[in-house]
Amino acid sequence: MGPYIINAQAPDEGNMHTLYHFATDYQREHFLQPLLDGTARSCFSMTEPDVAGSDPTLIQTSAVEEGDEWVINGHKWFTSGAEGADFAIVIARTDPDAEIPQARNSAFIVPTNTPGFEIIRDVETMGGRHNHPEIKYTNVRVPKTHLLGERGGGHKLGQVRLGPARLAHCMRWLGQIEMALEMLVDRAQKRFSHGSYLSEKQSIQWMMSDSAMELYASKLMVLHAAYKIEQGLEFKQEVSMAKHHVANTLWRVIDRAMQVHGALGYSTDTPLAGMMQQARWARLADGADEVHQMRIAELLMRAYNEDGSINQAVGGLPL
Ligand SMILES: Cc1cc2nc3c(=O)[nH]c(=O)nc-3n(C[C@H](O)[C@H](O)[C@H](O)COP(=O)(O)OP(=O)(O)OC[C@H]3O[C@@H](n4cnc5c(N)ncnc54)[C@H](O)[C@@H]3O)c2cc1C
Repeated sequence: MGPYIINAQAPDEGNMHTLYHFATDYQREHFLQPLLDGTARSCFSMTEPDVAGSDPTLIQTSAVEEGDEWVINGHKWFTSGAEGADFAIVIARTDPDAEIPQARNSAFIVPTNTPGFEIIRDVETMGGRHNHPEIKYTNVRVPKTHLLGERGGGHKLGQVRLGPARLAHCMRWLGQIEMALEMLVDRAQKRFSHGSYLSEKQSIQWMMSDSAMELYASKLMVLHAAYKIEQGLEFKQEVSMAKHHVANTLWRVIDRAMQVHGALGYSTDTPLAGMMQQARWARLADGADEVHQMRIAELLMRAYNEDGSINQAVGGLPL
């Protein structure tokens, strides 16, 4: 509940940043301000069941100009938080013939009470139902004033949004990692087996120390990426690295904590089982591991080829 208490929950937090950067005065008043006040909720509707979400240039949902309106048709899913949201930021194809694929999509603000906006179902996940609906957009009409950012700027907007939003996920995951490690340390010092406490066995100490080092590195990566965002510096590489590293650390540390808890860890008597169900999506949503690795490698090669050094692609640190 922490993120809700400080109004930093996904996807509203990312949407607030997006609106802050791209909204017109009208959009700020009607859509950003209620989010800031905590009187409205929102969602972000990009991923589609029929094409790879990892490649937004494949998006099929279309938006066509008709008079003073845009008419949107399409099929989305995993639009987190859509049930109960006041509006969705929808990514749709406006310029299928644009020379570069990244200029094909635009973003729109769609109030969820617009005729044609239809939640088909809440997609059930391995962690149960958590408000990740599948949505049909059928002749959804919004006024031209609801275009968010520039026409053809949907890809850019997604990038601007996802940088800090990925980091905000990392910050929530850091809390989960810390909790899992504290549970591991606590349990290991209380459980006795084969003549000593688990905490006295080297194999368990290695789990502790590996987790501690990975958590420490995670925190530094998040802090550095956040620093780059705050300073207005290029942050893509640092956010990709942090997102990948923290998501995988989350998975590993919860897994180790579960191991040390034995059957208790697998039961639902502790929060670990629920944490693990949530942790699994961290490695595939908001950029799957492999896609981040692909981008990291691309920037690494570009830095080396352009500068003769990889330094700028590994944080640009004075070390
Ligand atoms: C809990 C949860 C919440 C979500 N919330 C939202 C939301 O609010 N709004 C929204 O729009 N979307 C949301 N998503 C969707 C999420 O962003 C997508 O799942 C993600 O972008 C991956 O797209 P996909 O599921 O279509 O997988 P695909 O793109 O089909 O990829 C499947 C797998 O293929 C592999 N892969 C893909 N591309 C490459 C590549 N280039 N190289 C190597 N391997 C590759 C990866 O292993 C990847 O996991 C959410 C997903 C989850 C699980």
